[in-house]
Amino acid sequence: MALMKSWVGSANSADCPFPLNNLPYGVFSVDDGEARCGVAIGDMILDVTEAEAQGIVDLAGTPLFDVPYWNDLMEQGPAVWAALRDRLTTLLAEGAAERDEVEPLLVPMARATLHMPMAVSEYTDFYAGRNHAFNVGTMFRGPENALPPNWLHIPIGYNGRASSVVVSGTDIRRPWGQLKGPDDAMPRFVPCARFDIELEMGAIVGTPSEGPITVAEADANIFGYVLLNDWSARDIQAWEYQPLGPFQAKATATSISPWIVTKAALEPFRCDTPAREFELLDHLKDCGPMLYDIDLAVTMAPAGKPATTIARTNYKEMYYSAAQQLAHHTTSGCPMTPGDLLGSGTISGAEKSERGSLLELSWGGKEPITLDTGEIRSFIEDGDTLTLTGAARGDGYTIGFGDCTGTVLPALADPYKR
Ligand code: CA
Repeated sequence: MALMKSWVGSANSADCPFPLNNLPYGVFSVDDGEARCGVAIGDMILDVTEAEAQGIVDLAGTPLFDVPYWNDLMEQGPAVWAALRDRLTTLLAEGAAERDEVEPLLVPMARATLHMPMAVSEYTDFYAGRNHAFNVGTMFRGPENALPPNWLHIPIGYNGRASSVVVSGTDIRRPWGQLKGPDDAMPRFVPCARFDIELEMGAIVGTPSEGPITVAEADANIFGYVLLNDWSARDIQAWEYQPLGPFQAKATATSISPWIVTKAALEPFRCDTPAREFELLDHLKDCGPMLYDIDLAVTMAPAGKPATTIARTNYKEMYYSAAQQLAHHTTSGCPMTPGDLLGSGTISGAEKSERGSLLELSWGGKEPITLDTGEIRSFIEDGDTLTLTGAARGDGYTIGFGDCTGTVLPALADPYKR
């Protein structure tokens, strides 16, 4: 697929993350104004809330964008999703008949503050990148027991906290927690000393479901994707994770990128999941190319210093697709709702430079990394800014997500001081 040209000139360059081919959905405000729904085009945002108020966008005969989140559109289902994308494409395409009405509804992105694009109804995080699972399992249990026996048969996950999901740009406070190091006789309650990132993609469920759904149905129910950073307290995790999995180690915050890139925009980048050691049971089998070719990277910047790229990988490294994770999630009859967020699990490639967490990059702190600015890191230090980026590259265009970034603040001196 080639670049589709827009009358918004900045959208037409090959490296612009928001060409007409993308049209990602976000929520923005300007100055002290109210938060509104918008779609990114070039270096501008089209105010969709205002476009609807003026009757330029009218899809369901009922307002969908008079609220500062995209869940109402998600609930309408795939036919209305497609109708909106068609309408926005028509309005913003080169030579559009309605350019004069639409142009006053554009806001420079540089002037806008971006907010959470949806109300997160639920949040589940998976563990479905094979290299990551193998690396972490090797560090925690040795290479023979690295992958648990279930790993190659089901996408392992845990129920996370929707309340902890924050938009890119939100500062992250280093947590306190209970941990017990190898040399400690008794557990201690202290600030996390091994605070980490996890490079993930988040899939957003649009269409609700009640009972078990097939992988094909699950794929159809997914509305779009964001970048996702699952901030992780490794020392707290190591002490608490058995037998019920992570709890407080993952509850501080999860950051997402501000723009929901629709499944429609990613369609040209579909690719197959990797070869499988064991055939999956029928209800989890692939029903076509289920992953996407999306380049991913992580940068780290100490306070006041330039950023260093510390990892590069690709979403196609996943062993299970989001549709397979969603299908598995419903096997019990678990209901899924619009705005349900599914973290992919950390995405790591086979090479050392492709690892999506500091735990892996520094091999549990045994092999610290050196940044371009000379600083040495095993885990995150106070003031460090961690940023995830993602891009799918087409013929003369790029599909971007907007950065997923956060700066780590020092732990409180006393978390119980009132
Ligand atoms: Ca995770």
